Amino acid sequence: MPRTARRLAGFTESVIRGMTRLANRHGAINLSQGFPDFDPPEALLSALERATRGPHHQYAVTWGAPRFRQALAGKVRRFTGLDLDPDRHFVVTCGSTEAMMASMMAVCDPGDKVVVFSPFYENYAADAILSGAEPIYVHLRAPDFSYDPAELARAFAQGPKAIIVCNPSNPCGKVFTRAELLEILALAEKHDAFVITDEPYEHIVYRPGEHVHCASLPGAFERTITCNSLSKTYSITGWRLGYVQAAPAVIEQVRKVHDFLTVGAAAPLQEAAVAGLELPGSYYEGLLASYAAKRDLFLDVLARTGLTCTVPQGAYYTLLDVSPLGFRTDTEAAEWLIREVGVAGVPGSSFFREPEHRYVRFHFAKKEETLRAAGEKLTRIASR
Ligand code: GLN
Repeated sequence: MPRTARRLAGFTESVIRGMTRLANRHGAINLSQGFPDFDPPEALLSALERATRGPHHQYAVTWGAPRFRQALAGKVRRFTGLDLDPDRHFVVTCGSTEAMMASMMAVCDPGDKVVVFSPFYENYAADAILSGAEPIYVHLRAPDFSYDPAELARAFAQGPKAIIVCNPSNPCGKVFTRAELLEILALAEKHDAFVITDEPYEHIVYRPGEHVHCASLPGAFERTITCNSLSKTYSITGWRLGYVQAAPAVIEQVRKVHDFLTVGAAAPLQEAAVAGLELPGSYYEGLLASYAAKRDLFLDVLARTGLTCTVPQGAYYTLLDVSPLGFRTDTEAAEWLIREVGVAGVPGSSFFREPEHRYVRFHFAKKEETLRAAGEKLTRIASR
């Protein structure tokens, strides 16, 4: 048999999705792959029903259905103040996953370097390898996951093409402050690099923190490529709707990659998702309040295990320090948690560049009853 491509040797299939399969096999409560077990807003469900009877069953415009892009530009204006053109500033993609890959392929040539903060969302390493780029990692230091400005400056001194900023961060829950983003932008300007942001959790930032939309900072728009998704904001991870927002010259290039990668995101789902983009401000307040309650409940549950965990400032993940349990690796700990305790998480090492085997990542985008049921099972940890 002929051999497959060498570039694929550098990474494995997603560990996150792998843990979901293992959880299902063992009937464990799945707190590994981050997705809700509750319904999207009613407005979206009824819009979806209507969309099935409309003229939306063939390809939409490849870079996004016009109605969807108009609604998107309206929502972006409402939350960020940026007045963008639905026809020139957006490409609608299959989730932020495609948005990130298409952006990386649009800006990186083989051999280019890309700065990535570690811990990082596991897709970024694969995005870098598939676009031919080489990651330069900058360490985020627990417990607050701050970076060392000198280390960041040294990374930029290597002349990267771009930096990836996941804000709020999956998996560590870091929310980048305005000052940090301005520092990153100043370095990007000095070294003529793009800032590629990944912001699916923009509406899940716990008080008193606030989400700062990097592209809306002074002078930032031309070099900032924003990747985003509707998955988390409207609890529709299976709809696979995301987008790239950038300057027209960048969007033209991203459109080309997107066109040949997927042609387009699902037309009826774009039509239905307009109802989400048009929801009033109270929806987003309710979403945040509900996640804040889930966070408090789940951190309480984890405190009862006697172990310590990170307190996220944003997004819906926490890293539980399982090192006191005495396993050789975090993967062994995660497998024991699935098999013997009945709760699935993701071995933390799949998010770190450093040899870090202390953590298992859990998410809490679940109904309170699911989190309480997980809590009952997790009390077994205390008796190990
Ligand atoms: N972003 C979610 C996570 O980190 C889901 C990832 C995925 O499967 N696309 O778990």
